[in-house]
Amino acid sequence: MNSLTIIVCSLLYLGLLFGIAFWAERRERTLVARQKQSLLNNPYIYALSLAVYCTAWTFYGSVGQAATQGINFLSVYIGPTLAAPLWWIVLRKIIRICKVHRITSIADFISARYGKNRGLGILVTVICVAGIIPYISIQLKATAVSFALLSGQSSATHKPSFLTDQAFYMTLLLGAFTILFGTRKLEATERHEGLVTAIAFESLVKLIAFLAVGLYVTFGLFNGPGDIFGRASQQPALQASLTFGPGHSSADWFWYTLLSIPAILFLPRQFQVAVVENVEERHLNKAMWLFPLYLFLITLFVLPVAFGGKLWFGNTGLDADGYVLSLPLLTGQKGLALLAYIGGLSAATSMIIVETTALSVMISNNVVMPWLVSRPAWQLKLGNQSSRFVMYTRRLAILVLLLISYGYYRDVSDRFSLVSVGMISFAAVAQFSPAIIGGICWKNGAQAGARLGLIVGTAIWFYTLIVPTLVPVLLPESLLNDGPFGLSFLKPQALFGLTSLTPIAHSVFWSLFFNVGCYVWGSINRPQTALDHNQAILFVDVFQFNRPSENTAIWKGKVSVDALRKLLITFFGPEQSQKTLERFARRNRLMDRQSYADPGLVTFTEKMLAGAIGTASARILVSSIAKEDPITVDEIIRILKTSQELMTVNKELERKSNELQQLTRQLSETNERLKQMDQQKDEFLSTITHEIRTPITSIRALTEILHDNDDVDTATRQQFLGTVIKESERLTRLINQVLDLERFESGRMRLHLEPLLLRDVIKDAVEATGQLASEKYVDVQFLADCPPTPVVADRDRLMQVLINLLSNAIKFCEPEKGRIIVRLVVEGTTCNVSVCDNGAGIDPALHELIFEKFYQVQGDHRKPKGSGLGLAITKKIIELHNGSIDVDSQPGHGSVFTFQLPLSTG
Ligand code: ADP
Repeated sequence: MNSLTIIVCSLLYLGLLFGIAFWAERRERTLVARQKQSLLNNPYIYALSLAVYCTAWTFYGSVGQAATQGINFLSVYIGPTLAAPLWWIVLRKIIRICKVHRITSIADFISARYGKNRGLGILVTVICVAGIIPYISIQLKATAVSFALLSGQSSATHKPSFLTDQAFYMTLLLGAFTILFGTRKLEATERHEGLVTAIAFESLVKLIAFLAVGLYVTFGLFNGPGDIFGRASQQPALQASLTFGPGHSSADWFWYTLLSIPAILFLPRQFQVAVVENVEERHLNKAMWLFPLYLFLITLFVLPVAFGGKLWFGNTGLDADGYVLSLPLLTGQKGLALLAYIGGLSAATSMIIVETTALSVMISNNVVMPWLVSRPAWQLKLGNQSSRFVMYTRRLAILVLLLISYGYYRDVSDRFSLVSVGMISFAAVAQFSPAIIGGICWKNGAQAGARLGLIVGTAIWFYTLIVPTLVPVLLPESLLNDGPFGLSFLKPQALFGLTSLTPIAHSVFWSLFFNVGCYVWGSINRPQTALDHNQAILFVDVFQFNRPSENTAIWKGKVSVDALRKLLITFFGPEQSQKTLERFARRNRLMDRQSYADPGLVTFTEKMLAGAIGTASARILVSSIAKEDPITVDEIIRILKTSQELMTVNKELERKSNELQQLTRQLSETNERLKQMDQQKDEFLSTITHEIRTPITSIRALTEILHDNDDVDTATRQQFLGTVIKESERLTRLINQVLDLERFESGRMRLHLEPLLLRDVIKDAVEATGQLASEKYVDVQFLADCPPTPVVADRDRLMQVLINLLSNAIKFCEPEKGRIIVRLVVEGTTCNVSVCDNGAGIDPALHELIFEKFYQVQGDHRKPKGSGLGLAITKKIIELHNGSIDVDSQPGHGSVFTFQLPLSTG
């Protein structure tokens, strides 16, 4: 393909990235006005930005590795996938610590944790730079090689001078991009909106490109995966690579997988996107499955492409690292090849951009600034230009890093494959894990231990992985074969006689072994300084100290507020500094014009500065303007204890107030119930008096007539007296019912239980109501299609129930047309009695209400008045017999009242 086309496409693509980043930055600046959310406040963008993990190594290298070693390539994706659930514990804690302490890089993290130590910060920065430059350089190499492949130049030909080398210009362009979007704001804790959006976009592009090539190879060149693997299995070399065999033992799998777990968190670029750029801790929830999903998708077609390439090209000597490009290119799919090239470019550039940004912050905040601020003359010289100076340091660092990487690529990295260099970087950052993991879980982890562990671990890493790469050129071959000075137990690739592991696994094993050992040994044997101890507690217990900057200020000394203000102004300008200070004063209800700062304000200022220039530099600066009294470990423990106790007291208070609230709720519920009962009682009284008054009024009226008029004829007198008797009977019944109900409700009703046959009781009840029924010409039938049913019950009470149900049924039937059926059925251990009529029926909405006391359905059929107590009493009686009663009825279709009683088992 024409090189010019490729260059134009690359430039267009980079231009697009610039555009996206610009757009995102602009959008962010107008966010507040439009009340929209930041783009980064989105778990999907967060997860995509984490995919900066997949570099050109993944894009080109994993295919290369799969072609020679089969499934071995998977281990570095399995590690992060397996560890992802742990992020909620580990990563969330690191994120919280970094937010609280305004930490901006891995170097700053380790330095801050171990007493804000400057030396540690430098050490970590140096390890990172040394470990990462080769990694950046292979990304450059990947873009150059892919360019050569696509444009048809052989990558083996002599390298062009750097002035005509497109990789050189690419390096400069990437430098410009990184400087533009990675060093916009001084405060490295502020988010890089444009940068991260562009990275997330690149992650999408590389995924799509790889999937497109994968689909094309699998289904375009071959007939699906079955075809590829089928053919591959006929080639012994390919088949062997699908199993564990020599060269990729299970021990190697273990070490590679293990190695990728810290890499996903502690590689500077990963730390940058996962921790520093994190907006919300809860985005982790989604990222924990989205990111493994991304890894799954991007590795899905690695084997098909690798095997496809092998099968297609045979032994033509084509480098398997380039299959992703050469397969579409050499089969005439130029467009697809170009897409693959852009995908690879995305993978490489995103890595370079984020990595150099992260490293530049480390270099400025952990190396240059601490050195500079510890020289008193600097402030005079720089004056208010300090913030600009920090920026320029970062920009310069980015350029220098990129140029060194470029130089490394031209002169050294040619001799290594993508994968091996990547693994060497992984092994370098793995050295941070004891200090970091120990630092967030173990309060006794101390500065001396961390330093010793890091130095020894890195030294072993260097000796076992870097030294061998220098062998034929700088060092004699005998070093590898016989060990230094003939000491064979010191052979770099077989330390202490360990020969069964590949060089990477071997190096990781020994370096981590000694690193952890030294860390623990140093921590136990060297006492912590006061500051060390303070930071240890603040880190390990970060979730307990919610606002440590203000609550747990550990500081004894004197500094004027003015001096602190001046310091802030130097870096943040007068306006922002004033705002920040005001915010602090408001939050802590401080007087505006204090002359001396309290410890809270000092700590706060230090944290603000730390966000911009690193923890160690901030420490140096603040102590340079403050008269500090030495503070002892005991004092620190006391202060922290007090604040911890305060927090415990607070928690206890909160718990108590919660309990109180609950009690109040219960109380008001009870109160509500009592009110209801009171109301019910009132209603009960008014209904009952009303019910009693009606018969009494009529009795009184009739007897008065009889009393006052002697001339009432006998027939009328007889009639009047008859009514009086009926009304008194009604009165008695009513009072009996009320008394019954009262006895039921107060629990004083005693049942006289005896064994009896239900059908006899029913027969008696039907007989007892026979008179009533025949008066209305209502037909009552009793059906019992079951054996004799023994129950233990109170006979009189059961009669009362049945008579009530039957008389209700008769009452609500139409005269002459009425039909009533009483049915007795046995079901398992219960017997059901139902009284079914073809009377007026009841609206379903009232089915529950009719069992309440005094409830009577209003309507025409109410003529033969009742008390409204019948069903209430019936229900009580049935419940006392451990049974239940309900009704099934529709207006106009009659009603069925059914009650269940347990059968006697005895
Ligand atoms: P009462 O003594 O007034 O009959 P109950 O408590 O026995 O009081 O019944 C309550 C209400 O339920 C009655 O007023 C009536 O409206 C309704 N009801 C009871 N049984 C029947 C039935 N078999 N058919 C239609 N309505 C009924």
